[in-house]
Amino acid sequence: MSEQNPAPVTVIGLGPMGRALAGAFLDAGHRTIVWNRTPGKDHGLVERGAISAASPEAAVAESPLTVVCVVNYDAADAIVRRAPVIDALKGRTMVNLTADTPDRARATAIWAAEHGIDYLDGAIMTPTPTIGTPDSVLLHSGPEELYQAHKPTLDALGGTQTYLGEDVGRAAAFDIALLDIFWTAMAGFAHALALAQAEGITARELAPFAVGIAEILPPLFQQHAADVDAENYFDETNPITSAASSMAHIVHVSEAHGIDASVMRAAEGLARRVIGLGHGTDGFLRITQLLNSR
Ligand code: NDP
Repeated sequence: MSEQNPAPVTVIGLGPMGRALAGAFLDAGHRTIVWNRTPGKDHGLVERGAISAASPEAAVAESPLTVVCVVNYDAADAIVRRAPVIDALKGRTMVNLTADTPDRARATAIWAAEHGIDYLDGAIMTPTPTIGTPDSVLLHSGPEELYQAHKPTLDALGGTQTYLGEDVGRAAAFDIALLDIFWTAMAGFAHALALAQAEGITARELAPFAVGIAEILPPLFQQHAADVDAENYFDETNPITSAASSMAHIVHVSEAHGIDASVMRAAEGLARRVIGLGHGTDGFLRITQLLNSR
C-alpha cells in the first residue's frame, strides 16, 4: 500500500536488486533518486522518472530515507563511510538492505549512531521479480519508532514485510539461517542430480519426484519447531538410526560412482555422533542440539 503523498526516497546501488527496489518506489509514486558506483545502470529508471544523482552525497541529500543495496557491507562502507556522505546522512535515515552478517549489521548501527545517522537494517528474502508485488518477503530490524516512521515508504516494496525487533542484527540473522536452508538444499539437489546422472537418470526424469521430496519439508518445519524449542527430540516413527542407515547408502552409491560424498558424509557423521551419545531413538533434529553444544 503506498502513501497519499509519497515521500522522496534515495536508492544507492543499481544492481539487479537495487534497480528492482527503485522501480517499485517509482511505481508507487515516490520521487526516487538513484546513484550507482558505475555510471549507466540507471537506464530505464530515468526514463520512468528517476532522478540520477551525480554523487552519493547528492543522492542522500534529496530524501529523508536512503536505501542501500549493494553486494556486501564492504561495498556499502566504501560508499557511505566518506565525509561528504556522512555529512549528508546526518539526521536522516539509512536502511541497509544489503545482505551480510548480523555482526556487520550491528557494527554499522554503532557507526551510524556515532555519526548521528538513524539506522535500520533489513534483508530481502525473494528474487527481483517479486519486488513491488504481493510475493516479496522483506525482513527489518532496528529501532521500532524509526521503522514505523518509514514503513509507508517501505510498503512500496510490497509483499510481506516483517519487523523483527530492536536488535539490528536480527534481520541478517534470519537471512543467514534461511540461506543456510537454501544452499544446503541446493547442494543436496546438485548432488542428487550427479548421482542420478551416474545411474542413467536425467534431471528431467528426476525433477517431478524431487518436487515431491521438497514438498515433504514444509510440514516437517512446522511440526518440529515447537519440539526443537522445547528440546524434545524423541521420534519413534523416524529414529536417527534409520536416517544414518539411509545416508550410508547414499555415501556408498556416490563413492562407487567416484562422486564426492563429503556433504552427506558430514551429515551422516553428525547422526552417528548422536547415536554414539545414546540418543538413537531420537529423530534427526537431535543434531541441532549436538551442533550447539559448545
Ligand atoms: P550484486 O550483489 O551483484 O550487487 C551489485 C551492486 O553492488 C551494484 O550496485 C554494484 O555497483 C555494487 N558494488 C559491488 N562492489 C562495489 C564496491 N566495491 N563499491 C561500491 N559498489 C559496489 O547484485 P544485486 O543487486 O542482485 O544484489 C544486491 C544485494 O541484494 C546483495 O546483497 C544480494 O545478496 C541481495 N539480494 C539479491 C537478490 C536478487 O535476486 N538479486 C535476492 C535477495 C537479496 P557497480 O554496478 O558499480 O559494480
